[in-house]
Amino acid sequence: MTETSVDVAAHDRIATYGRRVLAGGELTREEVLWLLGLENTADRFDLMSWANRVRERFKGDRVHLCSIVNAKAGGCSEDCKFCAQSAFYQTESPRYAFVDPEPVQAAAEEAARNGVTALGLVAAWKGLDEGPMLDEVCARFEELKRSGQVRPDASLGILKSQRVADRLAAAGVECYNHNLETSRRFFPQQCTTHTYDDRLRTIGFLKQAGIRICSGGILGLGETVEDRCDLMFALKEVDPSFVPLNVLNPIPGTPFEKNAPLAPLTILQTVACFRLVLPRAEIMLAGGRTVNLRDLQSLSFLAGASALMVGNYLTTLNQPVEKDLQMLRDLGLRWDGGVSP
Ligand code: SF4
Repeated sequence: MTETSVDVAAHDRIATYGRRVLAGGELTREEVLWLLGLENTADRFDLMSWANRVRERFKGDRVHLCSIVNAKAGGCSEDCKFCAQSAFYQTESPRYAFVDPEPVQAAAEEAARNGVTALGLVAAWKGLDEGPMLDEVCARFEELKRSGQVRPDASLGILKSQRVADRLAAAGVECYNHNLETSRRFFPQQCTTHTYDDRLRTIGFLKQAGIRICSGGILGLGETVEDRCDLMFALKEVDPSFVPLNVLNPIPGTPFEKNAPLAPLTILQTVACFRLVLPRAEIMLAGGRTVNLRDLQSLSFLAGASALMVGNYLTTLNQPVEKDLQMLRDLGLRWDGGVSP
């Protein structure tokens, strides 16, 4: 069999799984592991076409757009080994304290101009407790909410108590990003200053406060296929509204600076499996997509992605927003602030 010829048995098996998810059924861990192990290019495209049907069934032709603003940069006390903002590593990343209102409003105006639904304020620190900093953070969200231009979202790390989550909800935070990053097994190899359970506890506080959950991970840390599968099923338990998928863009100075890049088709195959495990979630391509997927970026929608982070990332540049919007138009997809011609 050539690398591109169709394996009929695999073709039938992929179709069986795809039909089951379309009908509202679920896949087992063993089934997803088998899908993640497909090596034949034709089989991988077969998988992607089923993920595309599942996306169309549950998400239609609308793409959710969001963007972020780095509200406090660098000097983070945590040692996440992929991160340019950790104080543990010598990187070129900028450092500044929590932002004033003006840059946040400017980012909100730009996001709204581009039809972007949500703006997330992201802070490089361990997390938030009650005190003056929480007051300042809440003030920024109240201003953002009052301006009414974008949905105010947050990514502010670990929350120390339920009261902190309740304060954020009262200030207008509608959705909070807190990634599980990877599997429980691999997590200690990428971060030692906090735990998987710290992250799950924060997600519990947020849910209790009525804040929607945005939780995903990062691929290419050196994790195994089993770790990726475990992340999918851990997220299924969390039941997030949004699942941002980042792909490592190795930053000089960080411990993962020499990690080998993932092949674009491996990334797309993984995205397709996330779609089949989490059919109703917004699967979002986020950091690292431009550098890792290159010309195959648009195929991520065929692979089941339904959301896109646009604008620059925290420490790396993205392609211009207009190029992303043109890609969506060319695919016949719509987004909240615009429609395809
Ligand atoms: S990923 Fe977040 S918590 Fe970890 S080092 Fe970077 S900024 Fe800090």
